[in-house]
Amino acid sequence: MRGVFVFFACMVMSLSASGQVGDGPGSRRPADTVSMRQVELFGVDRWFYVKEIDAEVFARIYGRSYKHDCTVPLSDLRYLRALHYDADGRILVGEMVCNKAISDDVAAVLRALFEARYPIERMVLIDEYDADDERSMAADNSSSFNFRYISGTNKLSNHSYGMAVDINPLYNPYVRERNGVTIVEPACGEPYADRDRDFVYKIERGDICYREFVKRGFVWGGDWTSLKDYQHFEKRR
Ligand SMILES: [Zn+2]
Repeated sequence: MRGVFVFFACMVMSLSASGQVGDGPGSRRPADTVSMRQVELFGVDRWFYVKEIDAEVFARIYGRSYKHDCTVPLSDLRYLRALHYDADGRILVGEMVCNKAISDDVAAVLRALFEARYPIERMVLIDEYDADDERSMAADNSSSFNFRYISGTNKLSNHSYGMAVDINPLYNPYVRERNGVTIVEPACGEPYADRDRDFVYKIERGDICYREFVKRGFVWGGDWTSLKDYQHFEKRR
């Protein structure tokens, strides 16, 4: 009986303190906006977590980023939740699937970027775009795991193992020269292939996004010479 009373007392406290029951970290949907008051009510730590792929997440990724012929064991992958700011200063709920070998590092990077109010426009599973990389990038969606081949090749991308993370991909496109032709992915990211320009969400060598990844052993695609992949941070397997 006492337990029941405590339960209801907590419900009432939660209701009066937050305005409604059930708006805590576990019940918020990806891309939801959260106020700083709500963040602090539950404590920042609870909004950041790493967990194994459960049935609910698997149902979202199977047949999309987790292709039917995916050779990566599900037990190698992890689901991350995080908060991030966007360029308008809003706080959003973010999510990502990546390899367990980098999940703690990625969570630490995202936490550091949140503390620094570093803007990330959108961070939902690429499955929300049917695991279509071009569509996800065009929507400026940051993501990691997607079982797919490197653009223009039959080699598996490091994203296939969840060992690479793309941040703000629309503003940090993949740029490659072939036979005098410049290929930019996503195609609508073409204005942002010019890295002399100044614009929001731009990743540059030495900025906080770069530093937080590189100090944890990630390589930045913007440092490559054969092509440039400004959105891309990866760890070698
Ligand atoms: Zn990438």
